[in-house]
Amino acid sequence: MPVPTQKPVKKPPANVRKSGGKLTAANAEAKLAKLGLRTDMDLVLHLPMRYEDETQVFTIADACLRGGQTWQVEGVVTKNEIGFKPRRQLLVHIADETGDIQLRFMNFYGSQVKQLAEGTRIRARGEVKHGFFGAEMVHPVYKVINEGAPLPASLTPVYPSGEGLPQYILRRAITDAMKRVDWTDTLPAELVRRMHLSDFEPAVRLLHYPTPEVDEHALMDRSHPAWTRVKFDELLAQQLSLKRAQQARRSKGAAALKKVGQLSKAFQAALPFKLTNAQQRVLDEIRADLRQQYPMQRLLQGDVGAGKTVVAALAAAQAIDSGYQAALMAPTEILADQHFRKIAAWMEPLGVKVVWLTGSLKKKEKTLATELVESGEARLVIGTHALIQDTVRFENLGLVIVDEQHRFGVGQRLTLRNKGNEGAIPHQLMMSATPIPRTLAMTYYADLEVSVIDELPPGRTPIVTRAIDQNRRDEVVARVHAAAQEGRQVYWVCPLIEESEALQLQTATETHQLLAEALPDLNVGLVHGRLKPAEKQAIMDAFSANEMQVLVATTVIEVGVDVPNASLMVIEHAERFGLSQLHQLRGRVGRGSAASVCLLLYQSPLGQIAKQRLMTMRETTDGFEIARRDLEIRGPGEFLGSRQSGQAMLRFADLETDGWLVDQARDTAHALLHDPGSAEIVETHLERWLGGREEFLKV
Ligand code: ADP
Ligand code: MG
Repeated sequence: MPVPTQKPVKKPPANVRKSGGKLTAANAEAKLAKLGLRTDMDLVLHLPMRYEDETQVFTIADACLRGGQTWQVEGVVTKNEIGFKPRRQLLVHIADETGDIQLRFMNFYGSQVKQLAEGTRIRARGEVKHGFFGAEMVHPVYKVINEGAPLPASLTPVYPSGEGLPQYILRRAITDAMKRVDWTDTLPAELVRRMHLSDFEPAVRLLHYPTPEVDEHALMDRSHPAWTRVKFDELLAQQLSLKRAQQARRSKGAAALKKVGQLSKAFQAALPFKLTNAQQRVLDEIRADLRQQYPMQRLLQGDVGAGKTVVAALAAAQAIDSGYQAALMAPTEILADQHFRKIAAWMEPLGVKVVWLTGSLKKKEKTLATELVESGEARLVIGTHALIQDTVRFENLGLVIVDEQHRFGVGQRLTLRNKGNEGAIPHQLMMSATPIPRTLAMTYYADLEVSVIDELPPGRTPIVTRAIDQNRRDEVVARVHAAAQEGRQVYWVCPLIEESEALQLQTATETHQLLAEALPDLNVGLVHGRLKPAEKQAIMDAFSANEMQVLVATTVIEVGVDVPNASLMVIEHAERFGLSQLHQLRGRVGRGSAASVCLLLYQSPLGQIAKQRLMTMRETTDGFEIARRDLEIRGPGEFLGSRQSGQAMLRFADLETDGWLVDQARDTAHALLHDPGSAEIVETHLERWLGGREEFLKV
């Protein structure tokens, strides 16, 4: 089986040479714990990521003849020398009765030189290459053996591991655990048969130590029935846990926000536009949820510019109409401030006190704001995560709205949720422009109702997107000028420099200078994360009022900024941004009636992934389609980030390829939870698969 070459196997104890000497038992335990392997069952469910075939030995002549792939050979060391050309390296020759092959080690320990002394018999596995001086293996995996040593009868598992935790320790720990663990199947035999699943014990044993006859490809691509069983169990545990969280939520009390009254009606009537059908539909869904006596947990998805804010404000109006307070939390000051202005302008004329609460308020202002919140004079509070501080107490918080929810950690959302009174949990409305594909939403957010605004307000013209080589910057500057001449406004987004915020700032400052020089008749502004909130605000105000035509920005404008007159977006080094980031940035234009353009400046040559991203951006403006492609390019783990997934929850199942299993697991979970006789099955299954980790899944 072809496998990537590996570092030489280090034989204990001579070669375990981490600083500080031997890997002690306690040490090993700590390292296993770091991988989350605490109990015997944890170890047993730590399954191989691949296998090595050490069950066969080829003669050296045969291996050399076949070449090209990984083979295992056995021979006696005939030569052992340290070469220096082109660099220091250990060259070892081994021979059997059919021939001779060179083993080359670029990095080696002194102990290895001794270990591979002439006359030593070894087995070596590696890719056979034909070099100038004949056949060789570079960095083979090898083992010193006695003549006639038996070959393993099963493939050798290779486990996901951590630093300083060699495979042999993991293998031994797992094999030991397999002897002690309780193998009882958590699922009733009848269910296992009906679902055509393998039995638990043989499936898991086979995955650890597959015999050579087992279809290797099915093992590697995880389509083997043994994998299916494990994936099913994993998905079932996840679904059970999520559904239980849902039941738990429904058993909790929340204030029923029954009244869509005066404020809601006056507000909707005063809006300068009519809600789109999609907005009205999701509003109805939210309104129905808010009337319930258990807390709503709803995600409001809608592409950038779909008009989520007004829906959120109408939800807040219902809470206020019903005599409760509402809070809206946004991830950045700029965004919170925009919400505040917009919503305060809508609501204050109708007699609602709206309060603004962020970290940047002066102490006195903050004290005043928190007093207004606590006394209940403030009916609606808008701010950043300052809202969740201990000092903030609400009179009677009925609804929590979290904008750009993916920007917040699970803990932050929980804290806000716990700000309700006397055990009542506020209803929760989360908003996101980053659409989550259906399969992901279903598994990761089983305890979340989802509303989707799938229609943009009328009168928007589609954004035209072009990718342009960086060396045509002059043309781009000319377009910026032309746009400004026509009375339009421009965003110029500076490159993302992940390694260094300071460097990013420097680049932004330079870009600003260059553009200001190139466009002397225009007012060119600069906004970045290091500015004080008041300075940031002054700049955003000037841009909103069209006193400033060009706004050079770092990614601080990524979310939510709303200036409808801006119709040209330039993104420098677009190849450094992720798809959803590009989509968010592009969404800053195309908000008015003017035809909008997004120019993606890139530095060639482009890598494969960057090329795919830019192509996707050119081809579509549909956020859901973009999310789908993003998932394709990156895979779900990265797509969600550990922040959202609450640590990679699925280790074995793959949501793309195992969608059918997700459905089955969900149905089974449903059936088990609705059958009182199955309570114990549910418990043991969850215990086996999640142990103490269930908390992660609850938010
Ligand atoms: P997002 O969903 O990205 O948060 P916003 O709520 O900021 O979008 O709305 C984008 C813009 O569209 C705002 O200027 C908003 O006032 C406007 N808008 C929202 N709903 C409608 C509508 N039904 N008709 C016209 N304009 C609307
Ligand atoms: Mg928004």
